[in-house]
Amino acid sequence: MTGMVDAAAENSKYVGLLEKLLGAVRPQFRTEVLAFGPDDPVLGGTRCRVAGCERTGRIHGLCFGHDRRWRNEGQPDLDQFIETTHPRMKGHQPLASCRVSGCRRGRKERGLCTKHLYAWQRAARPDPDRWVTQQPAVVELDPPATCRISYCDLWVHTDLPFCLGHGVRWKDQGRPDIDEYATGYEDDSTPGHERVDLHAMTSHLRLEMQYALQCRHDDAAIRISPAVVQVVVSAPPRRTGRCR
Ligand SMILES: [Zn+2]
Ligand SMILES: [Zn+2]
Ligand SMILES: [Zn+2]
Repeated sequence: MTGMVDAAAENSKYVGLLEKLLGAVRPQFRTEVLAFGPDDPVLGGTRCRVAGCERTGRIHGLCFGHDRRWRNEGQPDLDQFIETTHPRMKGHQPLASCRVSGCRRGRKERGLCTKHLYAWQRAARPDPDRWVTQQPAVVELDPPATCRISYCDLWVHTDLPFCLGHGVRWKDQGRPDIDEYATGYEDDSTPGHERVDLHAMTSHLRLEMQYALQCRHDDAAIRISPAVVQVVVSAPPRRTGRCR
């Protein structure tokens, strides 16, 4: 009997908290994907050093995208890179390409695209690391189109308008309208903003996280990068408390 009473009291506390949170979190923070530009006092920072890039500089003054490009290009002279590279980035979170040199297809398994995966299987599955280095670099005189997601520069997969990875997600979502799907991915309303994606959280946890971010934002005291917040958000949930 007491157990039931406790549960009821506990439940009303929970509902009360939920109501308070719903009242406290402002619309700006009530979205599943929160975007923050360099101007944000807490989740922003100094702008990327590449002129015209709207992102926050995170590593040697470069945004994550430009830092990745700089490393992909073999870490050339930094100042020269900053002066010559294009501000437009294809990519907040690009998918990895096949491990075979020059192959811009998406990865299916073992870091290989479907084509190279079959070739490896036909070769009786030798040591994959060695096998990859022995493959001739892929040179496509007439390369396939790139994925419809603007920041993805992988080749399209067979007859899909998307690379393998984005195509699989598109199919999983029931093949929605291609343009809408691509635009949804790009979210060009806030170009260059870093994002915290709260999709994976339960609605109550999401509300708590939105509230925490709003408080942090309002305090305007200690800077934190959206990437760090995302790590917390994406951590596997601990099965404690009554939220699960
Ligand atoms: Zn940049
Ligand atoms: Zn490949
Ligand atoms: Zn893609």
